[in-house]
Amino acid sequence: MSTPLLEVNDLKKHFPVRAGFLGGITGYVYAVDGISFSIAKGETLSLVGESGCGKSTVGKAILRLFDITGGQVTLDGTRIDDMPASTLRPLRRRMQVVFQDPYSSLNPRMRVRDILAEPIRNFGLAKDAADLEKRVGDLMDRVRLPRDAVGRWPHEFSGGQRQRIGIARALAAEPDLIICDEAVSALDVSVKAQIVNLLQDLQKDLGLALLFISHDLAIVEHMTHRVAVMYLGKIVEVAPKRELFAAPKHPYTEALLSAVPVPEPGAQRERVILKGDVPSPINPPKGCRFHTRCPYAFDRCRVDEPALRQTDPGHWSACHLHDRPAAENPLAGAKGAALIAKH
Ligand code: SF4
Repeated sequence: MSTPLLEVNDLKKHFPVRAGFLGGITGYVYAVDGISFSIAKGETLSLVGESGCGKSTVGKAILRLFDITGGQVTLDGTRIDDMPASTLRPLRRRMQVVFQDPYSSLNPRMRVRDILAEPIRNFGLAKDAADLEKRVGDLMDRVRLPRDAVGRWPHEFSGGQRQRIGIARALAAEPDLIICDEAVSALDVSVKAQIVNLLQDLQKDLGLALLFISHDLAIVEHMTHRVAVMYLGKIVEVAPKRELFAAPKHPYTEALLSAVPVPEPGAQRERVILKGDVPSPINPPKGCRFHTRCPYAFDRCRVDEPALRQTDPGHWSACHLHDRPAAENPLAGAKGAALIAKH
């Protein structure tokens, strides 16, 4: 088996909570608390979960925007989480990011030409000025913006066009992996679909790997290969897209999926309404972190934390229900997210 492009092993990021500005540490926010996954070359993995579950922290930790608390991050066989900044520089080029907000992520004082030229110059990718100009023009073609728009300022573009510029800037560094952190969340529905289609096309054409971070399962359904579902700093389920959407093996995924519209006319999913709010990541529940909201919780769930384990080939779930006989497991088979006929 070939080496995965990205491997994340037991990643932890705990942020200290301080009493006042200069006060001592009174606790920790367990934003990411021991998660593992890998992404193959040319693969899209979507990391989904409600706001505050830690998914954006995972993206930032991979990009080394801060030091991690524990675990390892490996890019193409090289461990990068403990690498000095000077050694990391050439590897940084291979991982780029597209942020959520297309308004604040572009420097308003730079024309598009300079925004796109900056990473090309920084990483020494152009042979000469003519090559630099050609690369900038090619990037505009790639993201389907007119070449003659390179002389314009960011504020002259719509939100969707700015996100295309953000994608072109990420592509300028010739990366192997792009982390899309809620990259379409701030856009209108029709623009969202256009950007998702663009990302899909770029991935196919350039063989890119994507880590697509989103709170919206409906968006990822159309563009991902696999899905990892996060809840309160932990991954609770990982599976190929088709398997996860047809038969989720974790009650939290089942609840998230139940809110996703079904494209077939006359069909709908049985809606699962979760009780209560997401608990605080400062003091996560003992046992299974989802037990305070899970409709199937039983005694063991309150004391024993379930490990993520394989329930079917390539399908992993962290839930004690899978130790029970099939007749007592509401998620056995496809029942959990079964489509039901509309009456
Ligand atoms: Fe629900 Fe228990 Fe499974 Fe956690 S382990 S998801 S509480 S059934």
